[in-house]
Amino acid sequence: MGDDLLARHRAVLPSWVPIYYPDDPIEIVSGSGRRVVDQAGRGYLDFFGGVLTNMIGYDVAEVREAVERQLATGVVHTSTLYLIRQQVELAEKIARVSGIPDARVFFTNSGSEANETALLMASNLRRSHQILAIRNSYHGRTLATMGVTGHRGWSASSLNPLSVSWLHSGDRVRGLLAGLSDSDHIDAAVEDLREVLATQTAGDVAALIAEPIQGVGGFVHAPDGTLGALKKVLDETGILLISDEVQTGWGRTGEHFWGYQAHGVVPDLLTFAKGIGNGFALAGVVGRAEVINAVPAVSFSTFGGNPISTAAGNAVLDYLLDHDLQANAARTGAILLDGLRAAQPRFKILAEVRGRGLMIGLEFVRPGTREPDAPATVRVFDECRRNGLLVGKGGLYNNVLRMGPPLTLTEDEAREGLGILVNAIATVDAEAV
Ligand code: PLP
Repeated sequence: MGDDLLARHRAVLPSWVPIYYPDDPIEIVSGSGRRVVDQAGRGYLDFFGGVLTNMIGYDVAEVREAVERQLATGVVHTSTLYLIRQQVELAEKIARVSGIPDARVFFTNSGSEANETALLMASNLRRSHQILAIRNSYHGRTLATMGVTGHRGWSASSLNPLSVSWLHSGDRVRGLLAGLSDSDHIDAAVEDLREVLATQTAGDVAALIAEPIQGVGGFVHAPDGTLGALKKVLDETGILLISDEVQTGWGRTGEHFWGYQAHGVVPDLLTFAKGIGNGFALAGVVGRAEVINAVPAVSFSTFGGNPISTAAGNAVLDYLLDHDLQANAARTGAILLDGLRAAQPRFKILAEVRGRGLMIGLEFVRPGTREPDAPATVRVFDECRRNGLLVGKGGLYNNVLRMGPPLTLTEDEAREGLGILVNAIATVDAEAV
């Protein structure tokens, strides 16, 4: 790297900020469609879409023009004291697609801030700081959102402003609920919830916060219907459900527009971030008016819902709906999932192919065991990069490859990425004993 950007990065950014491929780091200098180019002119097919932040592809004319139109007005006037047309329009659209009746939308700048706000709303409303969270979750990097993050590698602090009780995760490979049939899994999850409520709380719990598919946790998920079954128990005492849709929203899972819809439940509060800005900082909370309006707090977010981010957000959401990208996620996701599942029996190191739509996780283990194999995962990850495919890593044991490409992925690109992935796994599998 000509000007040694990594050394400069290391010299001024915190040492704990992760950088992929530190031996040969990538600086993305341009992008188009699903492809990006690095500082050395190397091209990549981006199967991680930034970090699921690029939802409709790079250099989309409609988004660029919407932002440029907003810039051309001269109005980059960020204030919550005057009306912002773009913000109101986007809130109307999000309320319409949220599936939450009589919805209200509060804009923030990040997923952490959205979840922090949802937790604040729930605890204020219920006059309780008791929260239920799911093991192996990730909800953000503020004090409260880390407090509900059940993943040691991502929890920088155990100083918790909330009182949190932990439910068992939906992991099907390991953990207490692993290996159960779907209906047994749901029954066990309900029993676990009842037991936690009876033994660890006084019953005055504010909310359960859950990702319908755990993102950072390695794209693991409970069987369809689990959150719905849990919600029936929550409803007995008015405990709210917060669905963290930061990774699962906007049709990414193919079958549904929101992750919660796989569970036969409507959450009281829903949080969104990442893809809706397609790179611009845009996030927020959606909830029923009777919940959101009852929060006893007059508050605002200085930059939340600013004209530039919401101009982008309007263009992204229009594009997503006009092109029915949910259907495309289902179609191209099926090419990947079917192809990976068909190849899986050939490999000793690939324990599970999971996910839905364009949210796909691959779990790597030592042959013949359930022992996580982080080094093999890194080898597959590096092989992919060497062959022009960017993917993500994750999971509690760093043994999961994660794919979350832009929802505009074409069928040819899905097949191209599948080929690189399968070859990369085959190369590393051949070395495994
Ligand atoms: N919730 C989930 C499910 C996430 O995956 C993330 C980020 O990865 C967050 C919340 C936090 O979002 P942000 O990084 O925008 O603060």
